[in-house]
Amino acid sequence: DERPLQDFLKDTASQYGEKKALYFMGKELTFAELYEQASKFANYLQGLGVEKGARIAIMLPNSPQSVIAYYGSLMAGAIVVQTNPLYTERELEYQLTDSGSKIIVCLDILVPRVTNVKKATQLEHMIVTGIKDYLPFPKNLIYPFIQKRQYNMVVKVEESADTHVWTEIMDKAQVEYEEVFVDPVEDVAILQYTGGTTGYPKGVMLSHRNLVANAKMCEAWIYEMKKGEDIILGVLPFFHVYGMTAVMNISIFTASKMILLPKFDAGDVLKTIHKQKPTVFPGAPTIYIGLLNHPDLNKYDLSSVNACISGSAPLPVEVQEKFEKVTGGKLVEGYGLTESSPVTHANFIYEKRVSGSIGVPWPDTDAKILNMETYEEVEAGEIGELAVKGPQIMMGYWNRPDDTENTLKDGWLLTGDLGYMDENGYFFIVDRKKDMIIAGGYNIYPREVEEVLYEHEAIQEVVVAGVPDPYRGETVKAYVVLKEGFHVTEEELNTFCRERLAAYKVPRIYDFRDELPKTAVGKILRRQLVDEEKSKAE
Ligand code: ATP
Repeated sequence: DERPLQDFLKDTASQYGEKKALYFMGKELTFAELYEQASKFANYLQGLGVEKGARIAIMLPNSPQSVIAYYGSLMAGAIVVQTNPLYTERELEYQLTDSGSKIIVCLDILVPRVTNVKKATQLEHMIVTGIKDYLPFPKNLIYPFIQKRQYNMVVKVEESADTHVWTEIMDKAQVEYEEVFVDPVEDVAILQYTGGTTGYPKGVMLSHRNLVANAKMCEAWIYEMKKGEDIILGVLPFFHVYGMTAVMNISIFTASKMILLPKFDAGDVLKTIHKQKPTVFPGAPTIYIGLLNHPDLNKYDLSSVNACISGSAPLPVEVQEKFEKVTGGKLVEGYGLTESSPVTHANFIYEKRVSGSIGVPWPDTDAKILNMETYEEVEAGEIGELAVKGPQIMMGYWNRPDDTENTLKDGWLLTGDLGYMDENGYFFIVDRKKDMIIAGGYNIYPREVEEVLYEHEAIQEVVVAGVPDPYRGETVKAYVVLKEGFHVTEEELNTFCRERLAAYKVPRIYDFRDELPKTAVGKILRRQLVDEEKSKAE
């Protein structure tokens, strides 16, 4: 189905126009309304002189505006550059400059931040939307970047030649916009900057074909979804490729209602499931862990939840089993990366699945494991680098031909992840190539140690990393967050690990913390912890 992504919104709006497309804090929008507003947005952009291939940055938390701006920009033939609303000025400036974005769509409270970097970038226009544009703003649901004192703050934005107000656009713009020819294979739909848990951020060029293929694969995977009848919980941010595909795009493809939450708050998610009864709930391990550890977990009815997919980081088996018990639904692990739109593997929901495995390659997707030195394919059971190929694999990195060449080989994407395939064709991720710890000559995979620690009743979150050590080269360190009301000593954890792991894998250092640094999808930033350690050592 090689058509531009936005065509699917048009199709759904014409077939399921009266169905609810999204729910946001008490307000709903139908597919017809969503399409109409996206069309107006496209029309307005064209009025500003936006032409095919122009880059438009969107710096919004999940909200009706984030969906409208995304589809509206694509309809105008533009390339979307998703920007994390939590970015500092430095990060924002880098991304705007690297992408050459001429327009940014942002929340009113972000205007000062954008204004401060504007001069150093190619930005020409700001489109500003208020939190209140679609809702009465409830006090308990604050965005993470809003301080308490700003609860009732109304930011007054004056319209000018380069500042445009959302509500005015929706009032004034025409529904008719000029259709732009977009080649689904050759034309970039989005520039998606990688999360940055490692290295410098690079703009991943994803074509329309890439995004359409991955949404279609998602649809085929949840084959029991009934068109127009499912409800998808959208707590993963749409500015990250995972939420973009596995919540936003799949909702449009399957005419499902998406429930938008602008940030993750465990209590709030529980309440939302209880009231809004979502059937599909894509998430990440730290999200499910957060819910399971909420003190009021048992007060809520979570039985509507049918299918959950966990990606972005390894899913501890403990968490999988507990979450399935609590909801009565299925939680399966999947795998992917920004460079593959993102999903390449998942376990089946209704058929055989293997705990601890990322499952099998998705339809139309090939995968193999390569020897780390020779790049030859290895035998089943042997560990090597995972390579993947399929219609969801990126076109390359924006303006970085060398990086592209090092990552894409004959259409195969080198993932940088180490893993193996078992005899039944199920894949297992052992760790990231760069996270493997080499201590005293032994290879240690942090994930294995983390799995063991997660079995301990006092541990809520843990991440294991290699830190510099004068004797062993590196040594194993565990950063631990304890569950509320629990206490445990280093010695106890040590004994626990020694009973379950070879001595060389047992953490030598424990660091108890109140929380761990995380990315937007809740992935623990292991690199940040390691870098802290390195800069201390210097
Ligand atoms: P960078 O691109 O710089 O590495 P990032 O981690 O934010 O940053 P993403 O594209 O968001 O990049 O994440 C992709 C990575 O997440 C994969 O390469 C893999 O290491 C990890 N990952 C995703 N799903 C799983 C899983 N089920 N098990 C283990 N690791 C996973």
